[in-house]
Amino acid sequence: MRAQPNPAPPVADPEAETWEVGLATVDITPEAPIFLAGYASRRKPSEGVDTPLMAQAMALRWKSDTFVIVALDNCEVSRRFMQPVLERTQASLGLARGSVMVVSSHTHSAPMLTDTLEVMAVMPQRDKEVIQAYSHKLQSDLFHIIKAACEDLKPSKLARGMGTARFAINRRVYRPEGVQFGENPEGPHDWEVPVMRITDLEDRIRAIVFGYACHGTSIEANGFYLISGEYMAHARQHIESVYPDAVAMFLTGMGADQNPTPRGDILEARRHGLELAGAVVGALQGPMSRIEGPLRWAYSEVDLALKETPDRTQLEKDLQHENLYVQRRAQALIRQIGEGHPIASSIPLPMSVVRLGHNLSFLSLAGEVVVDYALEFKRLHREANPWCIGYAYEVPCYIPNTRILKEGGYEADSSLIYYGIYGPFQPTIQETIHNEMSRLLLQTQLP
Ligand SMILES: [Zn+2]
Repeated sequence: MRAQPNPAPPVADPEAETWEVGLATVDITPEAPIFLAGYASRRKPSEGVDTPLMAQAMALRWKSDTFVIVALDNCEVSRRFMQPVLERTQASLGLARGSVMVVSSHTHSAPMLTDTLEVMAVMPQRDKEVIQAYSHKLQSDLFHIIKAACEDLKPSKLARGMGTARFAINRRVYRPEGVQFGENPEGPHDWEVPVMRITDLEDRIRAIVFGYACHGTSIEANGFYLISGEYMAHARQHIESVYPDAVAMFLTGMGADQNPTPRGDILEARRHGLELAGAVVGALQGPMSRIEGPLRWAYSEVDLALKETPDRTQLEKDLQHENLYVQRRAQALIRQIGEGHPIASSIPLPMSVVRLGHNLSFLSLAGEVVVDYALEFKRLHREANPWCIGYAYEVPCYIPNTRILKEGGYEADSSLIYYGIYGPFQPTIQETIHNEMSRLLLQTQLP
């Protein structure tokens, strides 16, 4: 009997009225102990692995338009870290600026990266070299999965649903001495779990994309030195155990002022992962609505003005400051001035809108974005069916709104120290971001 020839792969038709989706993943778990990013209080490199770390790329194409989203198990990436990756995707894959969006999961149990949160990176030289080697490899891995996802494009069907998970709690507590870390059940939160299902033309599930707006900080005691993708990675593992042929992919929401509750032991990361996976599986079992085309996207960067630019006298005074990280910020800025780069009076913030027909729009902001933005975007732009994403493209610092700037606290000012920035932002920040988001929505409006 003659073997049947393999069916020809579907020909990519540039005029086809269908979605094409490409997927690629790579394991990015470090092989050796490495300093982890997120908590300034860590004093030694990692000791063991809780979950593997992954980078996953998804290329979405409609006709000749392509947009690539990468979900990355890391605390965050900086502009300088991403620059060589984006230059390469632009030069060799022809992907336009803004069309490659890396979303960091914001796990606080993944390696530190070069050029990222440097003020926090207090360690011996040999550990810095481990970070450099890991970072270099990651930059190469990111390029290769983006390329592989673009080469994997297959006709696909998209649908969306919604679940709910309740473990995120507002962490801004109001005390007479100011706003402090704690648990504030009265504070704003976003418990929605948006879900997108990607199936092939035979209705086999290829990928399950889901989001949640909460810090990856379940682990703060037992397991403090373990490498872990946190509750997000545990959720992925649970989802993939229910749908073994699918890739589960997490897109971080705008939850910079949200912590998981309870926090502490590594068991909390597993338990929150279970709750989140349950919400996703529930949404997949419930009614889902089809996502039609077309794809339309727009990207821009807005300048967010800072209130204060320090002068030399201030920087020299800070060199003597009792807080080590204030000293390190001053050292870094003095070095920067010495290299001929003046201190910026504003921060450029990448943002984008990606419309998937009328039924879904990814509204994305760079930075650690507080939850108020997501709640407002969803209220103001309901017709666009927003899915709000934070930690997108890069993380220059926290992105507070006017209310939080007025109240003060970590997200408004003290976190800027770790980002090497003087501030705070001008209170116009909220209006600037909202106006630009409205402009991007208008620019991508569908007939
Ligand atoms: Zn954070």
